[in-house]
Amino acid sequence: MSAPLIMIVEDEPTIASAVARRLTAEGYRAHAVGDGLAAVSAAAALQPDLILLDVMLPGIDGLEVCRRVQAERPVPVLMLTARDDETDKLIGLGVGADDYMTKPFSMRELVARVKALLRRVERAKQLDAPEVDHRPIRAGDLVIDRASRRVTRAGEEVHLTPTEFDLLVFLAESPRTVLTREKLLEHVWDWVDASGTRTVDSHIKAVRRKLGADLIRTVHGVGYAFEPNEEAQADG
Ligand code: CA
Repeated sequence: MSAPLIMIVEDEPTIASAVARRLTAEGYRAHAVGDGLAAVSAAAALQPDLILLDVMLPGIDGLEVCRRVQAERPVPVLMLTARDDETDKLIGLGVGADDYMTKPFSMRELVARVKALLRRVERAKQLDAPEVDHRPIRAGDLVIDRASRRVTRAGEEVHLTPTEFDLLVFLAESPRTVLTREKLLEHVWDWVDASGTRTVDSHIKAVRRKLGADLIRTVHGVGYAFEPNEEAQADG
């Protein structure tokens, strides 16, 4: 099996080449492109295993690249943003990236995130393993189908990104249990670092925006708990 191919979409040549060098040194194959339209066609032609995607690009921006690439074929996307509040905004828009990293970042952090994301993809592929529990999770009018990775609320399908889905499932598997941000980060992102807790908060926001604010309770300073108000939903 050949090494995973990582496509770098970055218009600053010094960053692109430094990232490519580091990923190559880590044993990956790397391919860098400098603008959005080139990224869309290169993604179709090369079928990369992961895309590192800068948001601010000439031509079409990273959001549009992400949408177009994901429409063709699901591929994990690690988005590079300029500021933390930009990350929040992007998650809020439901762009569909799996993880976000704010510039400037260290190469070590980048490699750790890439590894974690690729591990998650592998783990998702092993969903057919017999030990995996495929029974749907039901809570009021919410149904989480773990076998098909689909979510419905009141009979309506709600589209979650792979990360949002994994986050919801992990919370819902332990209802009325407070899970710390660190625990969520470790399990869902397979990645532990204080800088990642914002990512958790932002993804929780996205899940609430899509599914309603009544499913996940915030435990301030600690984390989150899946606590659906089942009676109210059954009556409604
Ligand atoms: Ca840029």
